Amino acid sequence: MDNAIEAYWKIRLEKLKKALEANNFEVHLAESAAGAKTLVMETLLPNLKPASMAWGGSITVVGAGLYSALKERADIEFLDTFDKRIPAEEMLERRRRSLLVDLFITGTNAVTEAGQLVNLDMIGNRIGGITFGPRHVIILVGRNKLVPDLEEAFFRIKNYAAPVNAMRLDKKTPCVKTSFCEECKSPDRICNTWTITEKSYPTGRVKAVLINEELGF
Ligand code: SF4
Repeated sequence: MDNAIEAYWKIRLEKLKKALEANNFEVHLAESAAGAKTLVMETLLPNLKPASMAWGGSITVVGAGLYSALKERADIEFLDTFDKRIPAEEMLERRRRSLLVDLFITGTNAVTEAGQLVNLDMIGNRIGGITFGPRHVIILVGRNKLVPDLEEAFFRIKNYAAPVNAMRLDKKTPCVKTSFCEECKSPDRICNTWTITEKSYPTGRVKAVLINEELGF
């Protein structure tokens, strides 16, 4: 069989789609990062017609080419909450405003086989937007985010996603040196609030795009 790995993940993602749908998420499948971009730009955006958007600083969103594509849309006010040139005070204000946009787009730290989204934030603007505020939410999910259950999700996030993120952001935390979580008390600690999104409320507000490719971390 050609593309055996993709065939394997196609089955896993189709099963995950059913689990998420049973939890009231709207779910779409994409064969690649490029396919996810096309789906968002050519199907989801025309359906939702957002006047305003913000994003959750997601490597997956950048990797799919959506960050640059959305910034270029003249018909959508795209609130950039992660541009490093923006002064800290304005950045904070933008992140507060990002909770009131029409459409919020981000990734997830993990998704369980039972269809739960698991996330851990430093500031909380990303999990805030996923939970309440924006009228619609799109979550891009690379296949590498799938874990068997909540315990594995917590382990993955604390011992992989968070240390890698701390390294990416040049944080002064012990995990940057050891590669695993040491439950630090550092002022730079990026692990402050957990969310488990068990179901989308209202039904369909959160739209998951499951991508048959490794994206983000
Ligand atoms: S709690 Fe501290 S050491 Fe643990 S992953 Fe988070 S930032 Fe790193």
